[in-house]
Amino acid sequence: MRTIYHMQLDASYLKEMIAPIDFYIAEGQEVKTKGGSPWKLGGLCPFHDDHHVGSFYIHDISGSYSCFSCGATGGDIIDFTQMKYGLSFGEAIRKLARQWRVS
Ligand SMILES: [Zn+2]
Repeated sequence: MRTIYHMQLDASYLKEMIAPIDFYIAEGQEVKTKGGSPWKLGGLCPFHDDHHVGSFYIHDISGSYSCFSCGATGGDIIDFTQMKYGLSFGEAIRKLARQWRVS
């Protein structure tokens, strides 16, 4: 139980420390930040064979992502990291902490 509790703390801390836009740009997504909506065009979808920008969106506050072509969706940058790299929750947290030097 303690481990799980600790990982949840790490997860919310990570999400506080890493701005979703910075994260997605570092992941190679071509994020279009113009416009007032928190949903931004996120470039080509990494979860299907995408050739045209326009179906992959990211949310610049929560870090959620959603693809209207293949249906890939997740609630935050941890979900994205798990899905893109095939990692468990704990592995994704450790990867993000390492990559972004959050400790
Ligand atoms: Zn997709």
